[in-house]
Amino acid sequence: MFMAKRMAVKEKNRLLADQGKQVKNYGLVLRLYPNDEQAELINKTVGCSRLVYNMYLADRKEDYEEHGSSLSVAKYKKEVLVPLKSSEEYGFLKEVDKFALEVACENVDDAYNRFFKGQNSFPQFRSKRKAKKTYTTKMTNNNIKVIGCSSIKLPKLGKVGLAKQKTKRNKYILKKIREGRIRILKATISQKGAHYYVSLTLEEIVDKVEPLDISQVDISKVIGIDLGLKTFATVNDGTETEFVKKVKYITESEEKLAKLQRKLSRKQVDSQNFKKARNKIASLQEHIANQRKDFAHKLSSRIANENQVVVMESLNIKGMGRNRRLAKAISDAGWHQFQGFLKYKLEWQGKHLIKLAPWYASSKICSNCQEKHIALSLNHREWVCSKCGTAHERDENAAINIRNQGLETLGLISIA
Ligand SMILES: [Zn+2]
Repeated sequence: MFMAKRMAVKEKNRLLADQGKQVKNYGLVLRLYPNDEQAELINKTVGCSRLVYNMYLADRKEDYEEHGSSLSVAKYKKEVLVPLKSSEEYGFLKEVDKFALEVACENVDDAYNRFFKGQNSFPQFRSKRKAKKTYTTKMTNNNIKVIGCSSIKLPKLGKVGLAKQKTKRNKYILKKIREGRIRILKATISQKGAHYYVSLTLEEIVDKVEPLDISQVDISKVIGIDLGLKTFATVNDGTETEFVKKVKYITESEEKLAKLQRKLSRKQVDSQNFKKARNKIASLQEHIANQRKDFAHKLSSRIANENQVVVMESLNIKGMGRNRRLAKAISDAGWHQFQGFLKYKLEWQGKHLIKLAPWYASSKICSNCQEKHIALSLNHREWVCSKCGTAHERDENAAINIRNQGLETLGLISIA
């Protein structure tokens, strides 16, 4: 099954390449407004998907333990799932989206494949309490369809209301979906707190882009980016440095959130006021996440459009695991999201993202004379190199070093 899927994708890519085309995949998350009946059916589908996932996993384990064989998805669907649906005990499975149940089986298979490739630990059963409230359905015969700007048709659920779209990106993508220029492959429906979402996996066929040859790179379009907590990104292009601050409305929302969280801590746990405050915090957190995402999209688009090679440090958050507060601050800052967006936006244009090794001490090297100042405290924004006397701004110096290191990696310069 897995092999067949991969072969089909390969074959498709080859055919497209012959026509000078390629596949571009990405996602779109939209807030859903199901009515009570639809919300109930979503919950039911989540439960049934989890049940089928667990049953197939149990059967597959048992099959292996008893017969040393591997119960394939196709066999399970045909010989177990179909009869189950007609049984009295599990007849309720017929009431939910059948594609969601198929995807649940395929997820078990994917989990096994990742395990065999050493990417995951052995597949685990999903507990009702801990598992995310989510299920995924597949596009088959136009069963998923965006209708106008305000609703989406989903299997079994029918027409579900959509939140009004505020960002240009979302409006643009929805328009292209309606025009049939972007295809929906999958839809993941999820519930977080009191809110519902649909996350669409999309496919667009675009002109094939050849990767830009390094020898053809315009060196003035190679930039180094240093990510920071106060200044979100410090960007150096070899002559100038741009300090990109987080936009003011995000900072304001974050301050408001901190205030609400302090207030919450003073309220009596489980009182009515406590619950109210907690809901308020949850919706503000969601709002901030959307603001950050929008910011990351805008900045990454601009940088990817204006440059050819972007050099950054690897984000080694795992290595910072011991300092939990720092790790949280870094993940909250949205660096991963930004780097992810930037990477695919560069690749779409045949451009390059160079990630430096995480141990490269960009902040402690003088970008003028390359002297390493190991003892330099990172608390000082400004410092003077004791060897060559150059005055540095910490983040700018780091961005210059990152850019130079990237240029050297590409063989475009050599650092003395
Ligand atoms: Zn120096």
